[in-house]
Amino acid sequence: GVAAAAPDAGPSPAWQSKCPWGAPSTTSISCSLADVMSEQLAKELQLEEENAAFPEVVAAAEGPFITGENIDTSSDLMLAQMLQMEFDREYDAQLRREEKKINGDSKVSISFENYRKVHPYDSDSSEDEVDWQDTRHDPYRADKPTTTPRRGFIGKGKDITTKHDEVVCGRKNTARMENFAPEFQVGDGIGMDLKLSNQVFNALKQHAYSEERRSARLHEKKEHSTAEKAVDPKTRLLLYKMVNSGMLETITGCISTGKESVVFHAYGGNSTEDKVIPPECAIKVFKTTLNEFKNRDKYIKDDYRFKDRFSKLNPRKIIRMWAEKEMHNLTRMQNAGIPCPQVVILKKHVLVMSFIGQDQVPAPKLKDVTLNSEDMKKAYYQILNMMQQLYRECNLVHADLSEYNMLWHDGKVWLIDVSQSVEPTHPHGLEFLFRDCRNVSQFFQKGGVAEALNERELFNAVSGLNITADNEVDFQAEIEALEKMNEDHVQNHGKKLSTFSSDGDPPIYDE
Ligand code: ADP
Ligand code: MN
Repeated sequence: GVAAAAPDAGPSPAWQSKCPWGAPSTTSISCSLADVMSEQLAKELQLEEENAAFPEVVAAAEGPFITGENIDTSSDLMLAQMLQMEFDREYDAQLRREEKKINGDSKVSISFENYRKVHPYDSDSSEDEVDWQDTRHDPYRADKPTTTPRRGFIGKGKDITTKHDEVVCGRKNTARMENFAPEFQVGDGIGMDLKLSNQVFNALKQHAYSEERRSARLHEKKEHSTAEKAVDPKTRLLLYKMVNSGMLETITGCISTGKESVVFHAYGGNSTEDKVIPPECAIKVFKTTLNEFKNRDKYIKDDYRFKDRFSKLNPRKIIRMWAEKEMHNLTRMQNAGIPCPQVVILKKHVLVMSFIGQDQVPAPKLKDVTLNSEDMKKAYYQILNMMQQLYRECNLVHADLSEYNMLWHDGKVWLIDVSQSVEPTHPHGLEFLFRDCRNVSQFFQKGGVAEALNERELFNAVSGLNITADNEVDFQAEIEALEKMNEDHVQNHGKKLSTFSSDGDPPIYDE
């Protein structure tokens, strides 16, 4: 029942499959008394079930849940429960990591089992968990562990025990666990005669502190609700998980809300062996509304890389493909050495990348920055060079290149926003390239760069094609003819040309 609400476990409950960006739909309840009764019954049953699995959480939310007036409340509750489960699981994973770190490959290992939140038997029944209560000692009554006086030892003659004595020290360490934050669960160690070695104690202490910091972060985050309101609960959960797992330190706020995406700033968290997390990150959340991405059909529908998948996909998956495309395109650019954000991780429709800017301040867009003529010229040549690299080395056309998607940072231009970028042989690839060229030429010609090529010259310089038309209309016509030739070739040979050529040479194939 409730366990199925965990992310990615089993079929999603109904509330999850609704469009998360849409207004919450209030179900109109039919008026038959029987219906009302059975719905109530169903709710009661559900409540019972949840009570069994999540006693504390449900107790806290009891009021609004029982009235049953607000359907959203129950999904918020579900969300809270999912969060709690996720939290517990991640907590345990962390504990396990620490356990592993401490034990290494030592023959004698210690176990943090008792400190885990999710116990194997928690999942089904918690009835039969405690038989140790039958022992004669009351495990709850603490034998207050004795502490060693300042002089560092206790007793006389051969009965002397020092502060380094294993047993004394172990007990003392156990007692010191009381100093951990109250919400840090230390189990019953304090009440029982448990001896913790210094190593174990230190590990626990470190864990307790990082828990405390994490808890503070999460609470701090709750107050910064502006960032959260911009995203739906599922996305919020994804973001929480990123903070929870320690990958991100904290999400500070929103940098941009566009038609198709929301971008957040975050401080990076802990790097792991196989993943380096940049100190500052940008999180691009692709919006999951139908309307917006429909306009983009033409970019992706004809992109052969995604062609097979397109027809079979539901809207949610298509949005994930945008994020995936941006990731792949950024990776290609990174490999070619083009200045652009570095991909950190992709989770569903959420892409985390390195932040271009500093101390939460994003680098300005080229349209917002005033460059002196020297920098302007430098920027122009850099862009010319990047467009060529993009085309030749990455086999990509940006397809939304303009002063809006170029950032000025560290004395150079950085390219961003490449989810819509396509390969040059995309049925409209050359048109997109021409549009990019027009934007770039116009920007730099207006910006006073005398050397700036016009859009047609730039197009040829980037593509290596040699379209000779000296006016826009003819030029555009030739571009479309080339695209058509390529499409015909695909029709006839089931395969694209690898490169275009307009010199009357036979097209170059990719064999
Ligand atoms: P959109 O499709 O909404 O235009 P963009 O990728 O262009 O999405 O991001 C929107 C804005 O967010 C950008 O104009 C830029 O100001 C900011 N931004 C995006 N990615 C980054 C990044 N990696 N570093 C800094 N700022 C970024
Ligand atoms: Mn943009």
